Order: sequence, then C-alpha cells, then structure tokens
Amino acid sequence: KSMGLNEIRSAFLKFYESKDHYVTASYSLVPQGDKSLLLVNAGMQPLKNYFMGTEVPPKPRMATCQKCIRTGDIENVGITARHATFFEMLGNFSFGDYFKRGSIEFGWEFITEVLELPIEKLWPSVYYEDEDAFEIWRDVIGIPEERITRLGKEDNFWEIGTGPCGPCSEIYFDRGEAYGCGSPDCKPGCECDRFLEFWNHVFTQYDKDDAGVYHPLAKPNIDTGMGLERIACIMQDVDTIFEVDTIQSILSAVVEKAGVKYGETRKQDTSIRIITDHVKAITFMVADGIMPNNEGRGYVLRRLLRRAARHARLLGMSGNVLTELVDAVLESYGPSYNNLIEKEAYIKKVIENEEMRFQMTIDQGLSILNEAIDRVKDNGETVLSGEDAFKLYDTYGFPLELTKEILEEQQLSVDEEAFNTEMAKQKERARTARGAGEDLGWTTDALSELPKTITSKFIGYDYFKSTGEVL
Ligand code: ATP
Ligand code: MG
Ligand code: MG
Ligand code: MG
Repeated sequence: KSMGLNEIRSAFLKFYESKDHYVTASYSLVPQGDKSLLLVNAGMQPLKNYFMGTEVPPKPRMATCQKCIRTGDIENVGITARHATFFEMLGNFSFGDYFKRGSIEFGWEFITEVLELPIEKLWPSVYYEDEDAFEIWRDVIGIPEERITRLGKEDNFWEIGTGPCGPCSEIYFDRGEAYGCGSPDCKPGCECDRFLEFWNHVFTQYDKDDAGVYHPLAKPNIDTGMGLERIACIMQDVDTIFEVDTIQSILSAVVEKAGVKYGETRKQDTSIRIITDHVKAITFMVADGIMPNNEGRGYVLRRLLRRAARHARLLGMSGNVLTELVDAVLESYGPSYNNLIEKEAYIKKVIENEEMRFQMTIDQGLSILNEAIDRVKDNGETVLSGEDAFKLYDTYGFPLELTKEILEEQQLSVDEEAFNTEMAKQKERARTARGAGEDLGWTTDALSELPKTITSKFIGYDYFKSTGEVL
C-alpha cells in the first residue's frame, strides 16, 4: 500500500484519536521553559511536565506529530538512508494510563491493519533485561522468538539529560538483503540500511535526577516515536528518506537549480541531500522564531545554513539559492504547517540576509582555506592552526565545524584548543569595548521584521561548548 507522507501523518493522528487520545499540533522547535535543551529533538520533550506530573495533561492519552531537530545526526545526513537533521516524529503517549502491552498492541494494529505492512518483515527489539516486553511480543503478538532481538543500553534505553526515561522496544523493517552489509550477523541494530528502525516505544518507568540517580515513577508512562520520513520511506518503497514524496520534490528543485543529475556520483548526491535537508531545517527554524546568531540555537541555524551554502558552491550554484529553495519547502509542507505560509516573507527575508552576509566572504574564505591547506600539506603537517581557523571564523564567517569538515575531506584536522583560546581572547576584547555595537548576526533591517511576540532566551556560548552536543 502506498501512502504519501502527509497522508500517513493524518492516518496516524486519526487512528490514535479513535483510541481516545488527545491530538494536538506540533509544538515549536524551541523548547518552552526547559533550559536543558537547545532544540526539541523528540515528541515527548514538550510534554515533559505531563510525564513528571507537575502539570495535568488534557487527557491521560495524547498523540502528536512533532517537529524535531537533531544536530547530533548532522554527519549522517546524506550518508545513511535514514538520517535527517530536521524530521517529524509521530508519537503516542500515555501518562500513567496504558503501559507496555497497550502501547505495543496499538502500534501493531496501526502498522499491520492501517498501513498493512507485511508481518514477516517486521522485527521488534527489546532491552535485553526487559522480559515483560519480550513476552508481549512473543505471546500476545505472536512473533517467533528468533525474530525478537535483545539490545543493550545504547540502543534500547532512552534518556535525554534528566527526567523521565526507561527501557525501549523498537520496531525494525527488513528491507531485504540488497540493502544489507552482507555480514552473517546482520540483524536489527546493525548500522547498515537493511533493518530500518522506524518506531521506538519507550517505557518510561524512571525519573533521572541531576545526580544521575534513577527513581521509579509511581505511575509508569508510555512515550513512543516513529520517524514520519522513515515510515514513509518504507510505505513508498524508496531507497532513502530523500526520495519520499514531500522531500523528493525539494530535492528535485535543488537538482534543477544546480543543473546536475541525481544518482551520478556519490559525492554530488551527498551534497544534494545535505542541501535538501538543511534548507528544510532552516525554513522550519526561522518560522519558529530562531535567528542566525553566534550562540545557542541561533548558531545551529547559522551553521546549517552556511554548511548548505558551501555544498551549493560545490555543486556550482551561486546567488541566493537557499532563499529560492524555500518555495519548494513551502509547497510540500505549507499545507500541514500554516505558520510557514503565514511567515513566508519573513522566512525568506531572514534567510536571504544571512545568505548574503555569507556570500560576501565565502569565496574569499574558501580560497584562503585552500591556501592554508596547501601550506599545511607542504610542511608535511596535518593540523591547521587555531589562529587560521579563528580568522576564518571571525573575518569570513566560517563556523568552526565547517572548517573542520572541509579539512576532514583532506584528512586534516584543526587545533581546537588554540581556536578556543583565540575565541576567549576576542570575547575579552569585546567585553572591554562593550557598547560599540556587537555583531548579532542580522541587520537592523531584518530585526525590524521580528514579530514582537518572540522572546528568545539567551543560552551562552559557554553552555553550548560545555555540552559539546547541541542536542
Ligand atoms: P537511529 O538509531 O536510526 O539513529 P535513534 O534510535 O537514534 O535512531 P530514537 O531516538 O529512537 O532514534 O527516535 C525515535 C524515532 O525517530 C526513530 O525510530 C526514527 O524513526 C526517528 N528518527 C530518529 N532520528 C532520526 C533522524 N536523524 N532522522 C529521521 N528520523 C529519525
Ligand atoms: Mg540516532
Ligand atoms: Mg537506534
Ligand atoms: Mg531508537
């Protein structure tokens, strides 16, 4: 059965509504009242207070389709079939209502009766110590024992920072040997693209405190997450999430603008997919009120945009291509996310401004970096100096990660410690000269377009650095 991505989203929400779940639209990508996270990265995140019991949910059961950003997956984008930085997570939640059995039964009914997935291709996994989940799959659902994989903490124990967490049970779809790594040990959990993980059911039984101690919850909860793009990839029987209908049309716009062919070389395809993913991510981020900046989530936005701009250069594109590609994103996603349409002019303005800023320096920066790379190589070295990397950052607007990525393509690295020292020195200089107009990353022109309702919380660069991850 083939279904469009938008159709699957509706079918999911309708199904859970019929099972007495309260359905609500996606929350913002910006976490509200939660300083432990830069960007929402799972459907349960905006519902944290319901799980904690500090707020009462509208119903003991809820279902959402949540916009998510995972910058931690950025290096996989365009490389694996299944990772994006921006994706939508379908989820059903139970706040002290049904538990493991209910969650697995509902999920099974949805994928086998509504989506009509072939049962013999479905492979559940459980946390290796979770006998309850194992028995539900074997005895209630009727999956043969050898098709239930026991996985360790890394795959099947879910937690982000502090708060609700617990063991999980995932569902994988076997896409067949053609997608496999060929290893006789290939099974769910293998890094290759044969067994595609598409749904994670988290059995939230614990609350983790600041000291890392797990406290059993009086009422255990259910939190599930199914990647909409992944289930669409399975339903549409395409190779990667980039060929899913709504994403494919953005990808086609990239290919058309670049005047290249998709499927010709690996390197080019990776760039095409990166641009496709990142332009979608930045469009949603700007729509949710995030501005390009040098700190926190604004820095994530800037980093994604500039990385996409560089890959556009690699494909030979010039001009404000990212701004132009926003139309393709709106066409696919506008009907489901009205704020994209409402803010169309604003989104384009913010992206265009940032794109123009970087355009003025990217070519110069790239040639300076290339010269530096030659110098490093001529000297028989492998590390670019922190001073050089800082100059690229400070004068040419190259996020450190971008410089690193370009260096890695040549098997080189950067002296990050020295980079950080330069950064600290510059902060000190800025502190002394405060008042002289700090670079906030946008022009007064764009600033005047800011809706008055947006209040952005300041999360300092130091916080960002100390967590390492921007998740
Ligand atoms: P993977 O192992 O493939 O990286 P995960 O175990 O990190 O996925 P979860 O944290 O369990 O993912 O998230 C729940 C679901 O969200 C996944 O089963 C998947 O369908 C989807 N998902 C997670 N990360 C991504 C991503 N980067 N892009 C698209 N979908 C994703
Ligand atoms: Mg992951
Ligand atoms: Mg996983
Ligand atoms: Mg998982």
